[in-house]
Amino acid sequence: MRGARHVKNAAIVVAAGSGTRAAGKDAAVPKQYRPLAGRMVLAHCLEAFSAHPAISDILVVIRPGDEPLYEEAVRGLQARLLPPVHGGATRQQSVLNGLRALSALHPDTVLIHDAARPFITIATISDILARLDHVPGAIAATPLSDTLKRGADGLVAQTIDRTGLWCAQTPQGFRYCEILAAHEAAAAAGRSDFSDDAAIAEWRGLRVALVDSPAANWKITKADDFARAEAQMRQSHAEEIARAPMGESRAATGFDVHAFEAGDHVTLCGVKIPHTHGLRGHSDADAPLHALTDALLGTIGAGDIGDHFPPSDPQWRGADSGIFLKHARDLIARRGGRIVNVDITILAERPRIAPHRDAMRARVAELLGIGVDRVGLKATTTEGLGFTGRREGLASLATATVFLPFEPGG
Ligand code: MG
Repeated sequence: MRGARHVKNAAIVVAAGSGTRAAGKDAAVPKQYRPLAGRMVLAHCLEAFSAHPAISDILVVIRPGDEPLYEEAVRGLQARLLPPVHGGATRQQSVLNGLRALSALHPDTVLIHDAARPFITIATISDILARLDHVPGAIAATPLSDTLKRGADGLVAQTIDRTGLWCAQTPQGFRYCEILAAHEAAAAAGRSDFSDDAAIAEWRGLRVALVDSPAANWKITKADDFARAEAQMRQSHAEEIARAPMGESRAATGFDVHAFEAGDHVTLCGVKIPHTHGLRGHSDADAPLHALTDALLGTIGAGDIGDHFPPSDPQWRGADSGIFLKHARDLIARRGGRIVNVDITILAERPRIAPHRDAMRARVAELLGIGVDRVGLKATTTEGLGFTGRREGLASLATATVFLPFEPGG
């Protein structure tokens, strides 16, 4: 992963084309919205970017009127998506619209990707981000392998030396300020003939690095490309499963209680909820996050939250419990583990959890770097019984399942 935590890397996925060359039998549907191995081509692209831990925000540029198709493509996707923006008459204009739409976010870098390349890998995204530490631009490209001929009247006029020739792909990554300035300058100069963003960067004298990317990251162009794309997508899924390391699933539980005290809000799963009371605790008293931290620590036999963050240590006074959860997450990641799912139950008469449930799940998913569909959250009263029933405090249970690869010799 690139750089310090404050670095923001955004992605623009350009999906504003009408895709007429690839229209084929679904003439009305642009290629980026056509199904490929069970989901839309665009959804495959968005999945790759959203799965990358260093990409903080994703913006899709769409054709005006394609909103219903876009909504269908992103339905159920756990991606950090900004609202889509409309493209322009040319790809160049569409990218510029996307870049301008990111101005409030002002990311450090932006990766620009064509929606018709669904085979983009997380490794290529990482390689591009890594190069952007050293150069203002870095593009996915693959060395040319075919011999090039210049033709004239149906005959070979010349064989072109392919030494040093590369086929440009996307993503093309840039430092945000510099590519925005280059695009604005191109627009101001009335230039609309650039075939990719790197060409605009080059025109402005920016250095652009070539990042060796698999030829498999090809662009769906014609209608009959879909059969090949379908076969490739199925093959890569099969390989992914075969590559998964041997390992084991482990489950563990956690439990935590905090008492109510005077106050006007409680913090549950990192979400501030207005309430007639607060919760007493050394940290922010986020009982569900404490229970979940214990559950995660339990999967690797790593003790409990108090071992890692002693209540006697003043530095955790009022601390955001997200810190504790991220620590447990990182310990699992260091073992090569993957969090499969987590599930939380909150026991409380009040406050009502339901109105905040989606925000709480989203926050837990964000803290753990997993999809929201892997975060369960329920709340129940205890029918007026016990300390929760008497509204003296609230309790939380959590379970976690992780997948841990077997350690060599372990
Ligand atoms: Mg606690």
